[in-house]
Amino acid sequence: MRNVPEQSWTSAGIAAQADANLRTFNPPPNRPALKPGGSSVARAPRVAGELNTSITSQHPADPADPPDPKRQVHRHTVREAWQLAQHGHSSWWGDLCLSLLELPVSVLVNLEEMPTVDIVRSALAQVELSLTRHLFDAVMTSERLPVLQARFRRLVSPIKLSHVCRQRPYLAVTNPKHREALVRLLSSDHPLGVEEGRRQGWDIPRHRRVCRFCRRRWAIEDEVHALLECEDPRLALLRDVDLLSALERQEEPLPGARRMYARMPSWDFLDYLLRTSRLLTTVARFVYLVFELVESAPPLFPASESEWLELAM
Ligand SMILES: [Zn+2]
Repeated sequence: MRNVPEQSWTSAGIAAQADANLRTFNPPPNRPALKPGGSSVARAPRVAGELNTSITSQHPADPADPPDPKRQVHRHTVREAWQLAQHGHSSWWGDLCLSLLELPVSVLVNLEEMPTVDIVRSALAQVELSLTRHLFDAVMTSERLPVLQARFRRLVSPIKLSHVCRQRPYLAVTNPKHREALVRLLSSDHPLGVEEGRRQGWDIPRHRRVCRFCRRRWAIEDEVHALLECEDPRLALLRDVDLLSALERQEEPLPGARRMYARMPSWDFLDYLLRTSRLLTTVARFVYLVFELVESAPPLFPASESEWLELAM
């Protein structure tokens, strides 16, 4: 598993707190365990009228509330669901609380507390945090998403959902085939050996997903190798003409593209290309051409260690 950098969140420790809450969450004593279920109307063991009496007596109307019949009905409905949950009966309020606890990053909403606008707003904020953290962790612990990981490592704390989920400039690349090539690169749904090796019917060790072009023993056919590092003449020519020269010649050129390419680590250079909007049309076309070339040649997966050792260094 990769090392996931420590990040702080807009509500620090909320996930850990929810996890702890999940471990300690139990139905209150002297009360039947809450059963997940559907509509309170369909499953309620008592008629609504019986509950209505106690709700009315326990929760008198707020004199500041406007006399809006619809709002009163809504409030009444919420109270009824809450009351059912307090007695261990199925209700949508109980289902909601349990469902939130079962999210990949748990969210705690106190079952015993009568829901208010503030409680609902707080729950919504926690759900957003939960989703943010889940998406971030899922990407950073994946073995398949190195390009997205390079982007996520640049995120500045506190990380918000809008940082993780947003429309990216590459979606504006007008050529659909070129745009699709970029999406395939970012989502690791591409034809390079490192991914193609996962799709075979047998377990191919990563080190034996060798570059089909240079056929070097050490050369794993991954994103940066194929796009930026392989010295095979076919890939090197594409890189020289359709990436570096094209970046220097395009309408809004990238001065010093070759110097940047020579001096920057490959992953940093690729990440820079993918996050610089004015370069994406050229980069997308280049990625498309590389994938097209890759798909024109069979992959190289040595069947055994001895076969792999026979490859040149
Ligand atoms: Zn190679």
